[in-house]
Amino acid sequence: MSKVITHWINGSPADGGSRTQEIFNPATGEVSGTVTMATAADVDAAVAAAVAAWPQWRDASLVKRSQVLFRFRELMYAHRDELAALISAEHGKVHSDALGEVARGLEVVEFACGIPHLLKGGFSEGVSTRVDSYSIRQPLGVVAGITPFNFPAMVPMWMFPIAIACGNAFILKPSEKDPSASLLMARLWQEAGLPDGVFGVVQGDKVAVDRLLEHPDVKAVSFVGSTPIARYVYETGTAHGKRVQALGGAKNHMLVLPDADLDLVADSAVSAGFGSAGERCMAISVVLAVDPIGDDLVKKIVERVDKLVIGPGDDPRSEMGPLVTGPHRDKVASYLDLGVSEGATLVVDGRRTQVLGGAAAAETPGFWLGPTVLDHVPAGSRVHTEEIFGPVLSIVRVSSYEDGLRLINGLEFGNGTAVFTNDGGAARRFQNEVEVGMVGINVPIPVPMAFYSFGGWKASLFGDTHVHGTEGVHFYTRGKVVTSRWLDPSHGGVNLGFPTNK
Ligand code: NAD
Repeated sequence: MSKVITHWINGSPADGGSRTQEIFNPATGEVSGTVTMATAADVDAAVAAAVAAWPQWRDASLVKRSQVLFRFRELMYAHRDELAALISAEHGKVHSDALGEVARGLEVVEFACGIPHLLKGGFSEGVSTRVDSYSIRQPLGVVAGITPFNFPAMVPMWMFPIAIACGNAFILKPSEKDPSASLLMARLWQEAGLPDGVFGVVQGDKVAVDRLLEHPDVKAVSFVGSTPIARYVYETGTAHGKRVQALGGAKNHMLVLPDADLDLVADSAVSAGFGSAGERCMAISVVLAVDPIGDDLVKKIVERVDKLVIGPGDDPRSEMGPLVTGPHRDKVASYLDLGVSEGATLVVDGRRTQVLGGAAAAETPGFWLGPTVLDHVPAGSRVHTEEIFGPVLSIVRVSSYEDGLRLINGLEFGNGTAVFTNDGGAARRFQNEVEVGMVGINVPIPVPMAFYSFGGWKASLFGDTHVHGTEGVHFYTRGKVVTSRWLDPSHGGVNLGFPTNK
């Protein structure tokens, strides 16, 4: 039976407007259901419910909020297989990978359970004669999160656990490509005891996003997606007076110095390049091989790529699944011929990869493209610099550390990067000189833990705060400083001068 994915407003599924869009099973290419696409009126209904629910939640004690978060964490953990299956069926990633994203998202929930500690302010006794000062952080009100297709559970969980723990009401606008996870999470919030209306979901596209960006009752917007939309969301949201953090695209480079352990590098490059079919904002898409290791390294990478098992996400033998949609697969595949026309060598052609239970990727129904390796990719070419967001690993040969660093720092993006070396001095220099927000040293996917903050530099992030960790707590709260004096018999009378400390 074909499923229908609706909004979630005021604690119930809500059908809303007349527009719908198809949802696909990427492994077969078949339509598996439809998603309701919000009108501006649907967004208004979700915001109104959030506005009405917010004061009760704002006034809930920190301990009460923390208890709801603990219950949500336990319920999510209990339903992790169900959630992973929903993700895998719509996104295409293999079940173990979907479980991994749920686990990483839950770490943010676990971090947010510590909200009583995270919201502690400062107190200074006696800042002036019998005057005390203290700082508090207060929630903003109704805030929204707009998320991409590639992590339908984890990326929303970068946002809403902290927003809700801080005492806000949260409206999620998930990707229309894989919307089912959002509804399961909404049900689990309700079961955990979160008051209806505090967590809402509106499904949809630009119509929903634009209404959230201009709605006067939405105080802040967190966005994760591609760079052009991130820039648009940041500019439009801030023009409407909102606080915005908008995380964009990426093109993550791995710089391999000649002293590195090439087996570790090859394992890492293949894992980070092809996990989740390369549809990760922290995927490694370019390996910068410093002379003279290029030939040896490519040989080791190809040996590993040849052994990867490509198949449906629900087949436990599969290591890599299909891409999310047909148009996205076609766009990614177009970079193979482009790369060759730009002068690269196609070492492994993912169109020919055998799919479990099928034929070559290009001939199997569904949105298939196997792992692809392009060697001798010219520095500065489109394949080198543009975000492809699929299973295409480019090898760019460089003559030195400086040559590699210059290429990384010359990029539009600055999300993640990694250096592989056994030289501590070189690694330390790299961490200091590289213009990227998240750096790995012999770690290919340096996604910060929940208690640090996640975010890139340059066109990978618009705004001042990264997500989760203490920056997340700051984003979803406003600071206030209170200066207090209690009645005292000896006061000095009227004084029109500016208060100073005598
Ligand atoms: P996308 O930009 O197409 O969509 C992201 C969200 O924006 C979705 O909810 C979508 O409905 C909405 N949207 C799409 N077009 C819009 C428009 N014209 N106006 C308003 N809203 C619009 O991104 P995607 O394809 O879902 O996700 C992949 C992208 O996300 C990649 O570029 C990837 O690098 C990026 N990403 C970045 C991070 C990060 O942390 N920096 C993390 C994950 C994904």
